[in-house]
Amino acid sequence: MHTNRCYTADRMNLMDQNHRLVHLDLKGAPPRVEYLEQVIPLFKKLGATGLLIEYEDMFPYYGDLEEVASQHAYSKEAIYRIQQLAEENSLIIIPLVQSFGHFEFVLKHEKFRSLREVPNYPMALCPSNPDSLMAVCMMIDQVMELHQGLRWFHIGADEVYHIGICDKCKKRMHVQNLTQQQLFFSHCKAVLNYIKVKYPSVTAIMWDDMLRHTELPVLLESGLAGLVEPMVWHYLTKFLLPPDIWDKFSKLFPNIWFGSAFKGATGSNMYLTNIGYHIENHLVWVSLQEKEKQKFQTIRGYAVTGWSRYDHYAVLCELLPQALPSLGICLSVLNKGTFNADLHNGVSAVLKFKSHLPISPFQCLGAPPCDFPGHKVYRDMLDFNHLEASYEDLMHNESIFTWMNEYQIKRNFVNPVHVGPLLNAVAKLLESFRILKARLQSSLSEVFYDTATEEWMNVYFFPKKHKLKDIIENARNSGLSSLIE
Ligand SMILES: [Zn+2]
Repeated sequence: MHTNRCYTADRMNLMDQNHRLVHLDLKGAPPRVEYLEQVIPLFKKLGATGLLIEYEDMFPYYGDLEEVASQHAYSKEAIYRIQQLAEENSLIIIPLVQSFGHFEFVLKHEKFRSLREVPNYPMALCPSNPDSLMAVCMMIDQVMELHQGLRWFHIGADEVYHIGICDKCKKRMHVQNLTQQQLFFSHCKAVLNYIKVKYPSVTAIMWDDMLRHTELPVLLESGLAGLVEPMVWHYLTKFLLPPDIWDKFSKLFPNIWFGSAFKGATGSNMYLTNIGYHIENHLVWVSLQEKEKQKFQTIRGYAVTGWSRYDHYAVLCELLPQALPSLGICLSVLNKGTFNADLHNGVSAVLKFKSHLPISPFQCLGAPPCDFPGHKVYRDMLDFNHLEASYEDLMHNESIFTWMNEYQIKRNFVNPVHVGPLLNAVAKLLESFRILKARLQSSLSEVFYDTATEEWMNVYFFPKKHKLKDIIENARNSGLSSLIE
């Protein structure tokens, strides 16, 4: 009996550290469950130990929260299926529910408008309105209900930029003599206490950025110690966090998490992932961990974040399938503690690249042969990048402005010697766009629901294609058809 308990305790200890969680940011382009069935086993093969699932509006909230669920939210069955897949692949799940800022997916609805800190802005809720805490707790309860046996639960709480602004908060700060920071602590503590009391076997996690610049005495008085494990996020290639962060945090928090990034951290409208950048980010983390680990009882491990958009209202950025090579490399760097040719070969082999996977996709003239779930999206994104470069070259060609601008075309005041070749170059590029359009729509639809496909095409693809089409149509309408072969 005693031996068994020790064995279990040891096993628990092993499971409680060195995690490599794949972050699924479902606020943009949530994958179809059929696609998750293919990639979750792949995450395991690539070295992941769990999933950090940021449901946002993809969770099937019900009852008073019904409006919060997107009309394309996963069903309960889908949530169970995801858990089953995780279990089959020995991956833990940590759900993430925002509890303070980044609350647009709730506060954009009329029903929850009164919870806003700033009436015109939908980002942060008001911590002095009792209904705010009730809404957050209700969300936590519904997510917990569908995830039995959780070990951790992430309450977000990052980037709360509107705090202590409304009249209620101002009054409360005055009466209770609170700073903005203490007001922040007070709401977090209410949420964390709720979790601790109602779900005693679950440990809460929160992002660290609202704490990282706080002086140690203020942190010590915050009351957060014992309630939460911070997840320190840093996505840059040089360490730019406050230098005293580890000393400070280790005084309150014996256990700590790190947050790196494999995609969605280098530009809000990037659609291809620069793997080299993310390797650097992970190498910074590896050396930091080595340097600082003694200060903490347990390094819980990493959430390797993959952002789908910068916030609820931003355009989609790098999509998951095209970033799987980056994810594979980043997980391996964490696993091996370094980046080298063996690691590069290994990940390339798992993703079934015939040669090496390219570290910088921007110079690729086409996707190298490979075969991983979603590789068609990867291929089509690389092809689009190539096509986009040709488009920019042509559109910024001074000949177009000089001899073939809209004014000249409309008046049919053109010299065929210049305009003929230019129109044919546009027509040829338009044909390439047409071919890629069909391919992209089909490859995106295999992975994503129609809304994401439609959004991506309308944001990144159609404006350029339509511009080319307009040029050809205007030329035809002006009687220049004979110049187009
Ligand atoms: Zn307020």
